[in-house]
Amino acid sequence: MKIICIGRNYARHIDELDNERPAEPVVFLKPDTALVPKGNPIFLPPFSKEVHYETELVVRINRLGKGIAPQYAHHYYNEIGLGLDLTARDLQAELKAAGLPWEKAKAFDFSALVSKDFIPVDELGGTDNIDFSLRINGKTVQQGNSRDMLWRIDELIAYVSQFFTLRTGDLLFTGTPAGVGPLHKDDILEGYIGNRLMFKTRVK
Ligand code: ZN
Repeated sequence: MKIICIGRNYARHIDELDNERPAEPVVFLKPDTALVPKGNPIFLPPFSKEVHYETELVVRINRLGKGIAPQYAHHYYNEIGLGLDLTARDLQAELKAAGLPWEKAKAFDFSALVSKDFIPVDELGGTDNIDFSLRINGKTVQQGNSRDMLWRIDELIAYVSQFFTLRTGDLLFTGTPAGVGPLHKDDILEGYIGNRLMFKTRVK
């Protein structure tokens, strides 16, 4: 399986990182080795002094598809989870400044945490009004709603499937809202969709 990630999909997050608003979705990949094994803590890698959390709604693809039209995109998933796109922000800044690809900063081992459970789209009442948040040590640091995405989930699926064949089990990270920041050793992270606890983990 592969992990397809969308960058710059929430206006206020684009502003906080001083990025340009893109004309098309920003897309990058993580390999399956980026997944944090279930039940493991988050380990901060030795090559970064500034690993940021990015809380994101995650779509699990359930059918093979390529060149999917937006109006058919909802046939390719039926549940939504929550994840963390961990980012070595210091390394990313260096790579961006040099015009180089982001993989070392975004796709390293254990840079993708995904909730064990996914919630059926029916139960969420669709995908256009999903609240989600991250608490660190009991304090809410990120709060988002899918209605604020620059490109909605179906548009993202249509867009990325022009370039990459989607397979059952592939994961789509849909971008992070404002409030990203650095992780510290011993932080306790709790991710929520609505009031439902989706993951709880700690930083080692
Ligand atoms: Zn992200």
